[in-house]
Amino acid sequence: MAAAESDREVPSALCTEFLNFSVKDTASKWLQVTDLYKEVYHHLARYVPKIYCLGPNLNPQSEDLLAQMLLQAPLEWYLCGEDPSTGLAKLEQNNQPSQLCGHVFKVGEPTYSCRECAADPTCVLCMQCFLGSVHKEHRYRMTTSGGGGFCDCGDTEAWKKGPYCQKHEPNISDSCQEDPLAHLSTDMIARCYNVFSVVLKYAVDMLTWDKEDELPLGLEPPDRSDTYYCMLFNDEVHTYEQVIYTLQKAVNCTQKEAVSFATTVDRDGRKSVRFGDFAFCELAKSVIVRNTSRQSKPLRVQVMHSSVVAHQCFALKALHWLGHVIGYSDALRRILCQVGLERGPEGENSSLVDTLMLCDSKMWKGARNVYHQLFMSSLLMDLKYKKLFAIQFAKNYRRLQTDFMEDDHERVVSVTSLSVQLFTVPTMARMLITEENLMTTIIRTFVDHLRHRDLQGRFQFERYTAQQAFKFRRVQSLIGDLKYVLISRPTEWSDQLREKFLEGLDTFLELLKCMQGMDPVVRQVGQHIEMEPEWEAAFTLQMKLTHIISMIQEWCATDERVLIEAYKKCLTALTHCHSGFADGEQPITLSMCGHSVDTIRYCVSQEKVSIHLPVSRLLAGLHVLLSKMEVAYRFPEQLPLSELSPPMLIEHPLRCLVLCAQVHAGMWRRNGFSLVNQIYYYHNVKCRVEMFDKDLIMLQAGASMMDPNHFLMIVLSRFELYHIFSSADCRKRYNRENANKDVVQQNNTLTEEMLHLIMMVVGERFEAGIGQVEGCDEIKREILHQLCIRPMAHSELVKALPENENKETGMERVIDCVASFKKPGVTGRGLYELRPECAKQFNLYFHHYSRADQSKAEEAQRKLKRQNGEDTGRASQRETLASISVVIGRGTQEHLGTLPPPVLPPFCPLFASLVNILQCDVLLGMLGAVLQWAVEPSAGHWSESMLQRVLHLIGMALLEEHQQLENSSEDNDVYFNFTLKMSRPGEAPSNTASVLALLENLQNAPHLEVHEDMIRWLLKTVAGIKTMRERSASTSTVTASGSRGQEETACDKDKAERKRKAEMARLRREKVMAQMSEMQRHFINENKELFQQSLEELDASTSTSLEHSPASPDAALACVGPRRSRPREKRQVVTCILCQEEQEIRADGKAMVLAAFVQRSTVMSKNRTRPPHDPKRYDPLFMHPDLSFGTHTGSCGHIMHSHCWQRYFEAVQAKEQRRQQRLRVHTSYDVGNGEFLCPLCECLSNTVIPLLPRTMGSSSCDQPGLGQWLKISGQQIKAMHSAHRKLQPVSTVEERVEEECPAPEVFTVDYIPTNPYSSTIKEMLTTFGTATYKVGLKVHPNEQDPRIPIMCWSSCAYTIQSIERLLVDEKKPLFGSLPCRQDDCLSSLARFGSACWTAACQPTVQGHFIRLLAALIPDPQVEASPCILDVDMLHLLVSVVLSYGSVHSQDSSGLSVDAVQLHLFHLITVAHMVQILLTSGPEEVTMEQESGEVERGEEEGACRLYNTLRTHVGSSLPEVGSGWHLWRCVKTGILPYLRGAALFFHHLHGVPAPPELHALCPGQWEVLCGYLSLPSNLLQLFHGQQELLEPLLHGWCTHPGIQQTLQGGGVLVSFPRESNSLIDLPDDYSALINQASSFTCPKSGGDKSRAPTLCLVCGSMLCSQSYCCQTELEGEDVGACTAHTFACGAGVGIFLRVRESQVLFLAGKTKGCFYAPPYLDDYGETDQGLRRGNPLHLCHERYRKIQKLWRQHSITEEIGHAQEANQTLVGIDWQHL
Ligand SMILES: [Zn+2]
Ligand SMILES: [Zn+2]
Ligand SMILES: [Zn+2]
Ligand SMILES: [Zn+2]
Ligand SMILES: [Zn+2]
Ligand SMILES: [Zn+2]
Ligand SMILES: [Zn+2]
Repeated sequence: MAAAESDREVPSALCTEFLNFSVKDTASKWLQVTDLYKEVYHHLARYVPKIYCLGPNLNPQSEDLLAQMLLQAPLEWYLCGEDPSTGLAKLEQNNQPSQLCGHVFKVGEPTYSCRECAADPTCVLCMQCFLGSVHKEHRYRMTTSGGGGFCDCGDTEAWKKGPYCQKHEPNISDSCQEDPLAHLSTDMIARCYNVFSVVLKYAVDMLTWDKEDELPLGLEPPDRSDTYYCMLFNDEVHTYEQVIYTLQKAVNCTQKEAVSFATTVDRDGRKSVRFGDFAFCELAKSVIVRNTSRQSKPLRVQVMHSSVVAHQCFALKALHWLGHVIGYSDALRRILCQVGLERGPEGENSSLVDTLMLCDSKMWKGARNVYHQLFMSSLLMDLKYKKLFAIQFAKNYRRLQTDFMEDDHERVVSVTSLSVQLFTVPTMARMLITEENLMTTIIRTFVDHLRHRDLQGRFQFERYTAQQAFKFRRVQSLIGDLKYVLISRPTEWSDQLREKFLEGLDTFLELLKCMQGMDPVVRQVGQHIEMEPEWEAAFTLQMKLTHIISMIQEWCATDERVLIEAYKKCLTALTHCHSGFADGEQPITLSMCGHSVDTIRYCVSQEKVSIHLPVSRLLAGLHVLLSKMEVAYRFPEQLPLSELSPPMLIEHPLRCLVLCAQVHAGMWRRNGFSLVNQIYYYHNVKCRVEMFDKDLIMLQAGASMMDPNHFLMIVLSRFELYHIFSSADCRKRYNRENANKDVVQQNNTLTEEMLHLIMMVVGERFEAGIGQVEGCDEIKREILHQLCIRPMAHSELVKALPENENKETGMERVIDCVASFKKPGVTGRGLYELRPECAKQFNLYFHHYSRADQSKAEEAQRKLKRQNGEDTGRASQRETLASISVVIGRGTQEHLGTLPPPVLPPFCPLFASLVNILQCDVLLGMLGAVLQWAVEPSAGHWSESMLQRVLHLIGMALLEEHQQLENSSEDNDVYFNFTLKMSRPGEAPSNTASVLALLENLQNAPHLEVHEDMIRWLLKTVAGIKTMRERSASTSTVTASGSRGQEETACDKDKAERKRKAEMARLRREKVMAQMSEMQRHFINENKELFQQSLEELDASTSTSLEHSPASPDAALACVGPRRSRPREKRQVVTCILCQEEQEIRADGKAMVLAAFVQRSTVMSKNRTRPPHDPKRYDPLFMHPDLSFGTHTGSCGHIMHSHCWQRYFEAVQAKEQRRQQRLRVHTSYDVGNGEFLCPLCECLSNTVIPLLPRTMGSSSCDQPGLGQWLKISGQQIKAMHSAHRKLQPVSTVEERVEEECPAPEVFTVDYIPTNPYSSTIKEMLTTFGTATYKVGLKVHPNEQDPRIPIMCWSSCAYTIQSIERLLVDEKKPLFGSLPCRQDDCLSSLARFGSACWTAACQPTVQGHFIRLLAALIPDPQVEASPCILDVDMLHLLVSVVLSYGSVHSQDSSGLSVDAVQLHLFHLITVAHMVQILLTSGPEEVTMEQESGEVERGEEEGACRLYNTLRTHVGSSLPEVGSGWHLWRCVKTGILPYLRGAALFFHHLHGVPAPPELHALCPGQWEVLCGYLSLPSNLLQLFHGQQELLEPLLHGWCTHPGIQQTLQGGGVLVSFPRESNSLIDLPDDYSALINQASSFTCPKSGGDKSRAPTLCLVCGSMLCSQSYCCQTELEGEDVGACTAHTFACGAGVGIFLRVRESQVLFLAGKTKGCFYAPPYLDDYGETDQGLRRGNPLHLCHERYRKIQKLWRQHSITEEIGHAQEANQTLVGIDWQHL
């Protein structure tokens, strides 16, 4: 940028010209002239090219400054007629702020819509308005804006109630609508008018200018230079990569510049990529065009003269300026609207606004955005002009849409997208329909753009090219506009509205006619279909139109006259479609059971059939409305009912339903998947309302107008089953016709399907208008049947229910009547469960069940019944079985297995005759036939489900009769008499048995056992009805007591069930425990499943394992020092998970290893700003107390032989090599990096830790005191120093004249101890050491590096600290609550640490020990010892204790290791106390507590020590008078260290912990100190040895680092260090969205970030998944998240992708997974991707769970498991996020 800036030098001559410029003079001159237009153009022609576009860089800031000075200022002056600073202020005073909020949404900004009050879903509020509105208490939906669009606050038409927020609430006083211009003087109005005209005209001229080298008249520059730009334009064809690649070639720029060019082109729509003379630019253009024309249309490039570009730049600026100026006053806004819409000289549609709109598709993206914004802030904010603008928009609609079809930009940047702002205003939409005939225009335009027709004029989408598909997608936006227009239904109709709506309906019917019968299919026989036919386009169209069709019906439902006319029109259209209905198809006569009917010969299986019948279906919908609105009864004379031909009405829908049946029967297998898909969508919830459902209604409508016998015969004939049921001896057909099994099978399925269809025709009465139901009964029934399958989450239910055009299912209104809500736990989601009392409405043959749903529901309901029956059986036995109500209420135990049909609501009169189907002769004939077949056991001749359906039908008929009897006052009213019909035997000659007789016959048939209950129930019902008919008086009082009893027992039952479950759980737990105690600690092999099942339970209970329980509770236990307890010697035997052999852990035995995962960690970091260390030179010997980077080791606890593991790992490696050669697949683990999955639990691991036996301390003889030991160790160190010097080459060491230090006799410096370990253990020691070193330092493995042991000790200390924190956070006791895998891991880490010196060079380790000790005991030979404030004491303790082994091995004096360890421990503890006191900070004002005798001593000691420190350190340490405060600081500050030390020594020596530490009881401090061989008054450590420690103390305090740190020169960590938490998240998710929407990409200057992502560890917001923020990391391009993890989380990251509402885990560059976010909606569900938009709130438990994963270092493990479970996660380029 800087370099480019210097290219551009403003000529000095110009500067003087600029300096002499006077704004006032220019404006005054303009005020004089008559032709302002000419004058201003002249001014612009002169100045614009001098200000803009003088170099390769467009838009530097100085341009804007100059433009403001030279161009805008005179305009403003002219406008005001005075200094604009005063003029504009005056205007502002009189401004009437608009009641509309009009806030334009940024990309990603949250928007809110009220699901209760919004007129339609496009009505939205900005966050500010929402929070101040009534809707925040309503059921609302939250989405993120895609940019564009504005807040509808204040628009009274957008909201059913609460249109204003608090801020936009209008004042009552100024609510009278006065003309805003009233406040302005006429002069002012005229000036304003003039200046707006000129400026807007100029802007329009320039933005619509299409010549590259010329300017409009009057704007030619006075002097022309030869400077050009090569301008690159945006399109939607080329990818980012293509553009970047091409630019690098064409203009020879760097990758970075090319990325920046491409980003700008994408954002602004164009960008100059080269500046220079014409030829120079032309060259670049030709290269770009050549390079991009290969596969597609080339990129658009223009070589434009610099003055043209300059004027275009200023034109945009001018539009901005207009937008800015009208912000001062509503009057100015109105004048601008007038100017814009004023008709130009060319007459109609020639205003400036029209011109802009009509050139929209030719403008670049940036220009469009600017003028769209201006439209929004002017035309759309002024209600009067909004209307006028809408009219112009409607007039131009066709042309705009046609341009848009050819436009290669997305719809959001097209002016056509403004339709949503105009058409969704109900009054406006109504006005545009009546005055501009908008409905017809939209539909016409739509139809005209779909040109592909077959010979009959129907749409034909076969062989669609990509280009056409693209266009087809664009055309669909027109349907969206139509939806906007129709979305609010009129409350009042004018004649004109009726006329125009019906005209629109005519056009719409034309469209539907083109769809009626499209994509017909013909059954393929013989061979399989060759090419799958295109079907998606037709279904897309159908799906898009679904809501339109529904809305048109709803419009019709609001006006009787419209409904009648619409019905007529639709019928005419259908008749027209079927004009050739009977042509060429021979009429035939069908007869059966004494009835006969004429129909045509037609076979679905042989002729063309189509699934698309929108005209029939619309008619079906309107027919229902006739009934619902009672038009059919009130104005029958106006309806063409006599013209209806029921057989014609049902013909096509019936064919479609038969097609489905045949597909189920497998007859269309050769037609491929396209047909299967079509059938699927036909029934799918997205389509079925206007497809399957309406076909069924049409059948109902047709059948209601026909003789039921005729109807059934036609159905039989279309199902191609007529011949089976019509033959005289059909009841015996299978005796002879069993030749072709396939045909029999097919016919069975078809019969089942047909019976199901009959049930649906008679039984589906839940739509208002068909049955006598309420509006919400339908949706209740849908929900009920979904929940009969299983309990479901809210979102599952929503998916299963049809949504209306407002994306509402209506579920919320009724859900509580049918279901109860069960809250989710920490995982899973909330579920709705069916209310038990609703189960009796269950219908097994519910029409929206798929076959799979049906069988699931059947199983679930039967199970439920059996469970309930067990309890209710006894109760109901008391009921008298004679009572018919009980039989029908189905409470008796005998009918447990039955799922009889539910009681149905009665039909509406128009459909009432449908019930007669149930008692017609043909149906009885069919029922009888099936029952007769069932007498003999099936051999494929009939099917169980066929019989089941027949029984169900009989049940329906009986219930119908029962209902009618019950509802009638006298039984002779009831003409429906199925019981009579069913007991009549067949007539001569066949004389077949009656249905009743057959049933009685079948009830005891052994092969029908499953149906026995149902048949009994039927017979009982028959008996009941007969009694009812016999009794003259009404016997049908329903006894409520029966059902009451059931409910009560159901409740008891529930309780019993819970109790039973609890008991089972207890038993299972006990079993697990019993098995536990039997087994060794590592029992997993034998009980893998059990282990996985109850890991959680087991984790908590391992404390009982033997080794941990105290050996003798009386003896005080100590884990360190000469008095430390010696646990009983016990053989430690483990089992290898790979070879299952047992093995004892012995130093000289075969090595056993533990799978382990080592990772870098910043979880405990107190300083995230520390830059990562340079791995090559970093000295890790001392850990800083800020713990900024650590190395954590974890293990799944699974043990293997080292050789078994090696063999396993080699196999994994080999397999991986083979796999990589074959195809480039990633795995969840990186073998090259030593990673593998634990062979047993698949836990990610990257090394193994060897298991070592416990170290045995020697029995203690007389041990030296502190003073003596200090002397001994001083001598030893001196001896080692001189010995080490001898080892080094003389030249490198400074010659020191120092006396040879004679080593103490018992200390042999050159003694090489024998290595106690077997070769395999030695090998494993190296393996683990190297791995820890490699991972911890991020270096290549190097077995010789002296830092290896340091890294191992450090990892041991870090892991202990991390576990200690975790126990505190989880409020668990220090001992006994760790899962055994962590116990094992810590033991092996500690023991490994004490042994690892044997694998390293001994002097090196001794050197480490010397340097470590020198930090405490000054050693002149060690340089640069750190100051004690820069040392983490637990790390020091662990390292120094573990490294001492290398020194002790040379000592033969009988000095015990234990004694040394205790001295070291005491010394470090004192140092830590000093550290704490130095950092304790000033006294807090707290209530001092009364102290007892003991405390007083402690406090006094603390005071004394503190004062000693002050004498050394001086004034840097504040004066503290309160010993209470100091002692409290010491006690709380040191506790984590003591606990860590206890864990360390416990695992190192295996001394059992005292029982008090296994619980969280008081008095822990004393016990802990005792266990650690410390006095409970820690200060005694110091005061007891004051003479010895005083010099050390002095040394520590006088270290220069102390003063420096205390005075703020470093990181001062105070103790105790608090556990780190993930950042606090807001309760309401939209706060996060809002935060993210104002976040801009930090690299591309104020751009919105596409994927703003929040680091949950540190709270940084990042611009993820985007080119702009990619950085290079270790030679690879990585996204912002990956880059951040390396700084913030040492490679591990936890993020929240805000727009997606998704948690992202990252590890390294290649691993990652998505994780459920901690935000839930009110239904207990997450909303990943923010698709549903329910308000989301923070779930604290879930967030804590994520935090726990992080604190436990389990993120990488979690990713591994997720990737193993879902392989697609492996392929994602995580590093680019
Ligand atoms: Zn708003
Ligand atoms: Zn508002
Ligand atoms: Zn509301
Ligand atoms: Zn083994
Ligand atoms: Zn494992
Ligand atoms: Zn971070
Ligand atoms: Zn960015």
